Amino acid sequence: MSINFSNSYRDLGEAFSQNILPDPVAQPELLLWNESLAKALNISFTNTFNATTNKEQENDLLAQYFSGNRLLEGSKPIAQAYSGHQFGQFNPQLGDGRAHLLGDIADAQGQRWDIQLKGSGVSHFSRQGDGRCALGPALREYIMSEAMFALGVPTTRCLAVVMTGQSVYRERPYAGAIVTRVATSHIRVGTFQYFAARDDVESLKKLTLYSIKRHFPALISASDDKAINPEQVLAFFSAVLAKQIPLVLSWLRVGFIHGVMNTDNTTISGETIDYGPCAMMNDYNADTVFSSIDRNGRYAFGKQVNMMQWNMTRLAETLLPLLSGDEDERVAQLQPLLTQFHQDFEQGYLVMMAAKIGIDEPIEGDASMLNELIALLKKYRLDYTKTFTALTASLSGSAIEAPLVDALNEWLPRWHARIDDFKVAAQQLMRKNNPVVIPRNHHVEALLERCQESDDLTELHQFLAVLRQPYTLLDDTTKYQDAPIDGDKGYHTFCGT
Ligand code: AMP
Ligand code: MG
Ligand code: MG
Repeated sequence: MSINFSNSYRDLGEAFSQNILPDPVAQPELLLWNESLAKALNISFTNTFNATTNKEQENDLLAQYFSGNRLLEGSKPIAQAYSGHQFGQFNPQLGDGRAHLLGDIADAQGQRWDIQLKGSGVSHFSRQGDGRCALGPALREYIMSEAMFALGVPTTRCLAVVMTGQSVYRERPYAGAIVTRVATSHIRVGTFQYFAARDDVESLKKLTLYSIKRHFPALISASDDKAINPEQVLAFFSAVLAKQIPLVLSWLRVGFIHGVMNTDNTTISGETIDYGPCAMMNDYNADTVFSSIDRNGRYAFGKQVNMMQWNMTRLAETLLPLLSGDEDERVAQLQPLLTQFHQDFEQGYLVMMAAKIGIDEPIEGDASMLNELIALLKKYRLDYTKTFTALTASLSGSAIEAPLVDALNEWLPRWHARIDDFKVAAQQLMRKNNPVVIPRNHHVEALLERCQESDDLTELHQFLAVLRQPYTLLDDTTKYQDAPIDGDKGYHTFCGT
């Protein structure tokens, strides 16, 4: 067995986590194993398996390991401590209430990855929760994160889903599962808030140093890596901000609504985490919200960058004790970085949207052309994905369907005039930036239903194969391209448990 674990987060000390083993489950059964991710992570069981081991025995062993029933060699599991603002309200004590970090491993390039079980039992941080996860939300996380990865969105990923053979009780009993999550780390804005709320400046320093070493090693010199200075703290904050821009831009590019951008669900690495209540937008409307608990639309599609800036401001507050000067001077050092974040995002947004209509380097006038298009999308309730797919196809002669031509009839000539000189290049750019298929809510939900009723995973694998090539028309792609007939009216997501 060749997983070479470090337990670097546990080594930070007891203020950071609780040492706790996963709680064994009755009957672990491997449902999904992400072979390509395992390969990318250099995870291989060839030493454990020999020529006589059959597939069933291999799967049984994987089920033992990725349910937490058997501990992988070198793993020293912990539950990580963190706080968080949930819908704007600060909760000083959250933490891994149903997850165990098994440790971190390095891939062939030396990049480190956390391997975490979720749904693996209670910890010190569980509060009233049962420490478990239902099969539906576990599968949802697997499907959505695989889709997002293939779409080019920075994201945590799933290595395995294991059924537990136990029921979890929500409003009724559901089949239980454990999902293995992989991330470049699980450090959240809320992790910084945890120590800031306790005035634990020493731990804040430790966490910042660890975060720099793990995510932004260029900010520190190898010979002098025991402490950080205020300049490095500012550089760290800048680097974290810079990670969030491509994250939110890619959400907006593909129509993703995270749904629960609390500070405990915002990683400093800029990876999408927590697929509980997320959903995809159909008709373009910046106010789109699907989460049942987001009653005020705090995390609506079009508000996501504002919410990210709010979260980054909360992170900035935690870093104040690590800067120099009086209170005002410290704030004055962070404020310009947040202003810069806003400007960089705006510039990035223009470039991203321009690419969706085939323009590589936006010039004056492009922003207004895009604004006009967005206004038309909204006015005529046009499907976000289908509209850009149709525009892309139109550049190689495909006719645009009547309703779309009618809606865009004044806009199309303006666009054609702009890209007339470079239509081939424009189409290439559009193909890379406009998916032909996204994990539509109605398809995801229908599949989750089916997977809970039957052991036949054929269709799930078919769906995953399509989602893994979202910019390519495969034979099966057309099965999953349709927008929901009712526009997902009345569709609600839940903070998946
Ligand atoms: P989330 O809404 O998924 O971001 O989770 C918020 C907090 O609730 C985290 O501290 C989770 O660990 C905890 N939590 C969620 N579900 C459970 C559960 N079933 N058992 C224990 N803790 C949970
Ligand atoms: Mg969460
Ligand atoms: Mg969640």
